[in-house]
Amino acid sequence: MILLANSEAWPGISESADLLKSRSAGLDAILAGIAHVERETKVRSVGYGGWPNMLGRMEFDAGVMDGATRGVGSVGAVPETVPVAALARAVMERLPHVTLTGEGARRFADEIGLPREEALLEDSRRVWRERLEKELSREELAAFPDIPLAPLSRTITDPERVRDTTVFLCRDAKDQMAAATSTSGWAWKYPGRLGDSPIAGAGFYADSRYGAAACTHTGEMTIRCATSRTVVLAIKLGFTLVDAVDLAVEELAELDTGFLGPVVIHAIDAGGNHEVTSFRCQDAITYWLWKEGMAEPELRTARPAHTQREN
Ligand code: ASP
Repeated sequence: MILLANSEAWPGISESADLLKSRSAGLDAILAGIAHVERETKVRSVGYGGWPNMLGRMEFDAGVMDGATRGVGSVGAVPETVPVAALARAVMERLPHVTLTGEGARRFADEIGLPREEALLEDSRRVWRERLEKELSREELAAFPDIPLAPLSRTITDPERVRDTTVFLCRDAKDQMAAATSTSGWAWKYPGRLGDSPIAGAGFYADSRYGAAACTHTGEMTIRCATSRTVVLAIKLGFTLVDAVDLAVEELAELDTGFLGPVVIHAIDAGGNHEVTSFRCQDAITYWLWKEGMAEPELRTARPAHTQREN
């Protein structure tokens, strides 16, 4: 058994580990942990603690994947919903679809009894408003939001403020793998923007036969490279876990147009190995690891990537 999650997972990592220890199914274990992260206001990139879009509204993304079946459920740009990872799981289990977005996702949440919640914290609203006042002229502020947002997206979109999503990966007592993600995405993103967290193959992927991977930071890059799928496919093709992650990093490093930024890749394989590699991150990146035999989850430090183009 193994459980791997990023640093933002602290409110839920122990419960996920305890559930795995008591032989719960992997998806149950990681969804229980993610629910704690979504409700923790101190986690400033997920659920209640997240940042709003450019219009000051919360829009959440989440995804789950069952490595036993390669079943996927995801939701993107969902308003007024905090347990979005649970909503993503319900998409997988109750609909003939894989992904729902926006108002359709919110309608489905109503149908399965998830309450509408105003998730925007007063502190998040204040910081958003201050940023707007800094970037807009007096005339633009008076007309807001009936102004073109695209020019503003170049200056106001703030990936630096959102340093994370939460991602959980595991392999359970029956050797089945699962992946789950949840985030409010980039602070001040253009309304309707989807990051990688609801996109299977980009922000997450799991195939119990080979491995599972999940990414944080610049979704605009991991979507272009299908980074999580790349890692798992490379393992399938015979790469070691470290080589599979290095291959995915090389692909990210090859991008030289569009928005470029940091990426962190988290991955496990069917041999019980784990790997967390940070690419273009200025600060040290930490993650949570629990494996069979460990009393408690431990906070560890990621390996900085060394590519031919970086570092
Ligand atoms: N990957 C997330 C996104 O692009 C954000 C993050 O993890 O920092 O929405």
